[in-house]
Amino acid sequence: MTYAPRKIRLIMELRAQGIIDTRVLSAIERVPREEFVPEDLLDQSYENTALPIGLGQTISQPLIVAMMTQALEVGERMMVLEIGTGCGYQTAVLAQLCRRVYTIERHRPLLREAERRLDRLGYRNVVTRAGDGFKGWHEVAPFERIIVTAAAPDVPQVLYDQLAEGGVMVLPVGANPVDQWLIRLTKTPDGPRREELSPVRFVPMVSGLPAEGESGHRH
Ligand code: SAH
Repeated sequence: MTYAPRKIRLIMELRAQGIIDTRVLSAIERVPREEFVPEDLLDQSYENTALPIGLGQTISQPLIVAMMTQALEVGERMMVLEIGTGCGYQTAVLAQLCRRVYTIERHRPLLREAERRLDRLGYRNVVTRAGDGFKGWHEVAPFERIIVTAAAPDVPQVLYDQLAEGGVMVLPVGANPVDQWLIRLTKTPDGPRREELSPVRFVPMVSGLPAEGESGHRH
């Protein structure tokens, strides 16, 4: 199957919805989303919707990936921290736009799959870790950009602390799944500057690692 016409339609839809940063649009155009969705949903690869990827998690809606990437204002020399690798789609989009992406996922099986996929697709500037994103990655911090793709009740302080001065963090916040906002925080000498970007719906950010069995292994 050729995905090209559907991909073009999706890019046009993103543009119509306010994604005007051409670097973001072309990064999305270059990432084969069909490589990131489950086999039985391949025909929906370029629909502008979130799709299930197993373990109760999802691949985000393309518009949300685009909106977050645009809001992050990534520069090509920057180090970016991502929390919530999932299938690795957002990771791949970011990897095209910055120097290196450090990405953390708490579900080991999802992370292993994402690693294999990113490796196969040739992304060499991605560093992964299985762990709790609430702890960030202090050995590498500070980061110029931080993106969180699961919703915490409020801004995780540890992550804000790992943001460089002048750095930008984009994340969904809200304890209630039907009342979440995508926000952008900029670290300034006077404290965080906070902008509310859009209402969103993300899976919850969960602390700690999954309990035995929860990660879908069968014994
Ligand atoms: N970025 C993905 C979407 C991921 S869905 C995409 O491009 O489509 C959110 C992911 O965050 C899930 O895989 C979930 O397991 C993970 N997650 C939730 N809480 C986390 C935490 N505390 N640390 C790391 N990952 C977490």
